[in-house]
Amino acid sequence: SRRFVVALAGNPNSGKTTAFNEYTGARQHVGNYPGITVEKKEGYARLDGRDIHIVDLPGTYSLTAYTQEEVVARSVLADDRPDVVIDVVNAGALERNLYLAVQIMEMGAPVAIGLNMMDEARKQGLRIDAERLAGLLGVPVVETVARTGEGLQELLRQAVALGEARSATPWTPLSISYGADLDPVIRRMENFIEEQQFFAGRYPARWVALKYLESDEHIMNLGREASAAASAQLEDMVREVSDHLKVTLNSYPEAVIADYRYGYISSVLRQGVVTRHDELANRM
Ligand code: GDP
Ligand code: MG
Repeated sequence: SRRFVVALAGNPNSGKTTAFNEYTGARQHVGNYPGITVEKKEGYARLDGRDIHIVDLPGTYSLTAYTQEEVVARSVLADDRPDVVIDVVNAGALERNLYLAVQIMEMGAPVAIGLNMMDEARKQGLRIDAERLAGLLGVPVVETVARTGEGLQELLRQAVALGEARSATPWTPLSISYGADLDPVIRRMENFIEEQQFFAGRYPARWVALKYLESDEHIMNLGREASAAASAQLEDMVREVSDHLKVTLNSYPEAVIADYRYGYISSVLRQGVVTRHDELANRM
């Protein structure tokens, strides 16, 4: 049977390596990505008598091209097309950690979230409604304590079930609003990218549009190699909206995009996902 691939993603210090070791034990191999010093760890987890291949992505806060790790993480997602991504997040720093989750979802990969460090979160008096978070984001969310193994099998089980359910359908990128200034140009760029078959489906059209708006040099260089003319047209569209934002908001697309991503995340978290014990006490 075809091998099933889970990619493990997460911010640095979220507990990714601890989870990876719990999943794979001695059945792991550490190497390097070709030509660079970023470590590549792979291994096998056991789930209901079956071997699940696990690829540990480099720990990153984002999927921009500022570091080699970020470029590796998104290239693995785009080129290796894991069946599902498990995003290990620090439950005590949800807002910051979900920034990566949203970007993985924008690439279209099926995602399951491991709400890790739940022992610490509980100690701090945080209550997280995992079911509500799952409902709002539309992805499985499982509470875990990677250090003790709590929740890890359940997380893997839900991740594999999601990956299997989605195996027949193309990746469906999350589409959030970037506001009245950017949404129309994003749509125009997206249509243009699809018409030109720019990047030939390697990355979702909307995601490529966002990367151009974020002035992502790695993607823009790949785009220029693929088609200098198409890339130049996209760069023109970006320049036009950049000039407009500069005049009207004294801002630039990258900043607006980050604001709206964080806005989306905080609007989700505000809907009763996170409660502090002291807040509960105050209400009584
Ligand atoms: P990575 O950078 O994401 O690979 O994180 P690590 O797996 O190296 O974990 C960072 C630190 O957090 C280590 O000291 C781990 O032992 C600890 N850690 C990992 N998971 C948990 C957890 O669920 N609860 C607690 N309290 N500590 C954890
Ligand atoms: Mg690590």
